[in-house]
Amino acid sequence: MITVEEAYVAVESTVSCLPSETIGLSKAVGRVLANDVHSDVDSPPHNKSVMDGFAVRAADISAGVTEFRVLETIIAGGLPTAKVTQGTTSRIMTGAPLPDGADSVVMIEMSNLGYTDPTPETVTLNVEGRFSAGKHQMARAGNFASGDLIFKANHRIRPVDIGLLAEVGASNVVVWAQPTIAVLPTGDELVDCSQSPAASQIRNSNGPMIRAIAHQWTSSVTDLGIGVDEIADLESKIITGLKHDVLILTGGVSAGTKDLVPEVLASQGVKTIFHKVKVKPGKPIFFGVADRDGGRRCYVFGLPGNPVSSLVGMHLFVSTAVRMMTGVAKAAVRPVRLGAILSRTHETRGNRPTYWPGRKCDVADPRLVKALRWNGSSDLLSLREAEGLIYFSVRESPHEAGAKVEFLPF
Ligand code: AMP
Ligand code: MG
Repeated sequence: MITVEEAYVAVESTVSCLPSETIGLSKAVGRVLANDVHSDVDSPPHNKSVMDGFAVRAADISAGVTEFRVLETIIAGGLPTAKVTQGTTSRIMTGAPLPDGADSVVMIEMSNLGYTDPTPETVTLNVEGRFSAGKHQMARAGNFASGDLIFKANHRIRPVDIGLLAEVGASNVVVWAQPTIAVLPTGDELVDCSQSPAASQIRNSNGPMIRAIAHQWTSSVTDLGIGVDEIADLESKIITGLKHDVLILTGGVSAGTKDLVPEVLASQGVKTIFHKVKVKPGKPIFFGVADRDGGRRCYVFGLPGNPVSSLVGMHLFVSTAVRMMTGVAKAAVRPVRLGAILSRTHETRGNRPTYWPGRKCDVADPRLVKALRWNGSSDLLSLREAEGLIYFSVRESPHEAGAKVEFLPF
């Protein structure tokens, strides 16, 4: 049985990145850039006014000039035609290019003009407060210049990044492909969540949960239905599953007489990378790989059937594999771990490190986390309150309140 650390290393050294593809910006949120993105424009593209007002020479204002001859009106999207000289000004709108000769803008509120008044031949400007060159204007390329590096390859695109990408003309972006993921829960006792289970049956809670998590990573998630614990049924569903980049099975991977998944996977050419990890819950987890036509591979995860076990397998290892496939920078492929402090004493038993549902519990000290009441790997109720998993190392004695722990947010 390997350790969690060894399992991470096995995933990282087995899984390779998918090819890149070009997609439209409107579909880019959540995708990871495969190339650097540079700007093809200066931002702003010209010295620009950031106020509605009058473009002037700051020296005139400092010299006490208040009466100005108005040369023209410059709107955003227009270009100035006249040079501002001593005693002259041009009316200017927010975003419009500053005319030659002007180095600053006086707000319209400091003029004798109302917002909607037509532009007069002369204007009175009474400036209050400090005023100097550069006031209410922004220099060309003050944000960034044409050619500047805007995003590095392997950056995951967030909604807030889309504006900047649009500004620099990245209407299409080159990103790593998303994996196709197939999900196959197995077990004779399972019925679909739309059904009322008969005695000895339970609803398939894993399948919908795992598909929902997978949907955070890719738009291509295939539901293979529920596999029964029979070779023939598993075989036909696994053959379909192996046509995907990732196949996630749940159930049937441990030591029961009906735990047939590993042998069916082997019969279909899946090479075992590991089977069993020293972790609680989720020990019997299986990871393997199969070659496919066209040189691509299918990475196969067999997660234990209990829902919180399969969640832990998803959170630790399947997510790591998917991040490897989608080009996430090496330092960020494993799940996020935050330093945290235990708010109350907690006892774990057994000889495997434990990932326990937990949550932050004190706004005044965001490092404080508490382990939630939890009945073990079949108990999904505690996840209702959980914000993540608390990692507890193996210890004979209880983990005391105030002890340092790691928190892995969902
Ligand atoms: P197994 O890994 O097949 O031995 O299953 C372990 C436990 O998880 C059993 O109690 C199963 O009934 C339960 N289980 C298996 N698959 C699911 C599922 N898809 N949803 C909810 N519970 C499951
Ligand atoms: Mg089973």
